[in-house]
Amino acid sequence: MTLTPNRTDFDQYMIPMFSPAPFIPVRGEGSTVYDQQGKQYIDFAGGIAVNALGHASPLLKAVLTEQADKLWHLGNGYTNEPVLALARTLVESTFADKVFFCNSGAEANEAALKLARKYALDKHGSDKNEIVAFRNAFHGRTLFTVTAGGQPKYSQDFAPLPGGIHHVDFNDLDAAKQVIGPQTCAVIVEPMQGEGGVVPATPEFLQGLRALCDEHDAVLIFDEVQTGVGRTGHLYAYMHYGVAPDVLSTAKALGGGFPIGGILTTNQFAPALSVGTHGTTYGGNPLAAAVAGAVLSEINQDAFLQGVKAKHDHFVTRLESLNAKLGVFKQVRGLGLLIGCELTAEHAGQAKTISNMAAEHGLMTLIAGPNVVRFAPALNITTHEIDTGLDRLEQALEAFTHKE
Ligand SMILES: *Cc1c(COP(=O)(O)O)cnc(C)c1O
Repeated sequence: MTLTPNRTDFDQYMIPMFSPAPFIPVRGEGSTVYDQQGKQYIDFAGGIAVNALGHASPLLKAVLTEQADKLWHLGNGYTNEPVLALARTLVESTFADKVFFCNSGAEANEAALKLARKYALDKHGSDKNEIVAFRNAFHGRTLFTVTAGGQPKYSQDFAPLPGGIHHVDFNDLDAAKQVIGPQTCAVIVEPMQGEGGVVPATPEFLQGLRALCDEHDAVLIFDEVQTGVGRTGHLYAYMHYGVAPDVLSTAKALGGGFPIGGILTTNQFAPALSVGTHGTTYGGNPLAAAVAGAVLSEINQDAFLQGVKAKHDHFVTRLESLNAKLGVFKQVRGLGLLIGCELTAEHAGQAKTISNMAAEHGLMTLIAGPNVVRFAPALNITTHEIDTGLDRLEQALEAFTHKE
């Protein structure tokens, strides 16, 4: 008899970079999840903005198993039908003319930054190599992307770090103006900072960055790894702002739980990554591409995206009313189904405690830093699941306020 794995196995066998919840989820359906003991949870975490169509989506299961019967992987010596269909859909649905696929958000941003350096080198020479990024940004965990991210605590222990990267405050256009110049090859920004606390950019900020990049022929990169694929109620958040980037990175929800990432760009920039300049073994493999194609076909419909906006309003209305009673949140903010609740000064630093208490009450949540409780549920979460989850949140917050 084989022993059923349990949570203590994590501490025994896994490199200790994570500290997962004490329970182990074993199955899910839609936005309802069950752990090893059969306890039920409503899932407002959505696999960190990944499970856009919930758990065990019948559509994705059908597409995945159909593709699994045909072809899993080829390597980049051959192209395949699902990846070409996916690329075409993305091009037809966005500002882009060309796409590249990889396996994660970090890899997508890595490719975006490399593209910018290469474009500038080819066109302007090696002095145009500086990258401007923003404090509190998150762009992934490779050495390049973690350095572009604006939280030194994630990068400083891995020095020497890649050079030529400058950080200024997010949403501070004047500060950006000070550092963006002829030496700048790229500006990388999240239209709404996710890990950094669910902070939307102001329209003026993104418009201003667009103008500065145009002035200096710098590549404007929107990191839409978290905000993309319907999350904000638009296919991509840049559509909400009406400001198009030169390169957009996408991942997380694109695969609905199957790993895939990619960058979107235009004919002006795509040639910089010519044959042999960059690559990947798995990127755009048929299994991942087939699943992503199905995710997009489901999400990129007006009625579906309107539904995300309607669910946002429902969420926020109920969060505001429970906060009117309990007074734990200073601000409820976000777009679509990426919602952050910033704690009042009195409860500062307690987001993790609240998230843990929510789990005890049968609700899976996220945090975004020590002061923000974050929700990034499946985009097809039902109203009933939202209401059940918020009832449980209310119970958890009541317990939290009494406990303190
Ligand atoms: C999650 C995230 C990443 C990193 O994606 P991985 O798939 O974990 O590499 C990059 N940028 C943003 C904005 C993210 O939210």
